Amino acid sequence: MSSAQDYFYSPYFEPLGKGELRCTLCPRQCRIKPGDLGRCLVRRNVAGRLQSLVYGHPAALQVDPIEKKPLHYWKPGSRTFSLGTFGCNMSCLYCQNEHLSRSGSQRQQEYSYLSPADIVRLAKLKNCASIAFTYNEPTVFQEYALHIAKEAKKAGLGTVLVSNGWIMPEARQELYEYIDAANIDIKAFSEEFYRKLCGASLADVLESCRHLRHVSKSHLEITNLVIPGYNDEPELIVKLLDWVGQELGKDTPLHFSAYYPAGGFEAPPTSPHTLRRIENRAKERGFSRISLGNLR
Ligand code: SF4
Repeated sequence: MSSAQDYFYSPYFEPLGKGELRCTLCPRQCRIKPGDLGRCLVRRNVAGRLQSLVYGHPAALQVDPIEKKPLHYWKPGSRTFSLGTFGCNMSCLYCQNEHLSRSGSQRQQEYSYLSPADIVRLAKLKNCASIAFTYNEPTVFQEYALHIAKEAKKAGLGTVLVSNGWIMPEARQELYEYIDAANIDIKAFSEEFYRKLCGASLADVLESCRHLRHVSKSHLEITNLVIPGYNDEPELIVKLLDWVGQELGKDTPLHFSAYYPAGGFEAPPTSPHTLRRIENRAKERGFSRISLGNLR
């Protein structure tokens, strides 16, 4: 394996004067003072330059069946070498993955340095057909994901992105060009939901979906976590279905997942009945690739 390296300097920033900078990687556009971290907790202003604190330090590495991402219509039955780091650019109140998303600057160096070439070598050693950027939000380790994806292509491996899709156009263009298959989480078809529950915006996420489908021409599947009382109203589900049908096509695989209470967020678990009602609505609208997930 490669030896540890210094933290990686990111190109995604603009100086604001007096040592301050703006991170231009995601639409949150954090304004960061010298020595401070961005909202994702893994990008720091060091003397007026932006460091990625997680480059080369995956906090989670595992071989998964591709169906677990979930991707049900791309290389079915294959294995994918999955990796994630700490940090997230959204702030979802109901986060189901807080041990990775809310940790950051203090912990990444607990994990050994693995170069992009190391990751590709390990993926091949484990007989994986692809490498997946997953577990936490890949946008916050954009540079690492991009370098791994380029190495993966050279080695003949596929690349998978499991993402919230909240990324700025320049970074989106750079990474998505190297992505073969993606699952994007559309959290609700509501700007209000994104703003109040996730500190984010729906429009940017939809643009990422369009880009994957029509510009990078990647295989795309969509996930929606159904939270009772927050995003399960029939009107929102219909808006989501209509948008996907019109913009991405009715052959787009859809995954509706059940919510289970996590952290301090107060909502009941999603009933199987609710998910079946949504499945029926999707079928009525002409979708045929529908999966219900997380049912217990
Ligand atoms: S990637 Fe992180 S530091 Fe950059 S704008 Fe987004 S949340 Fe802020």
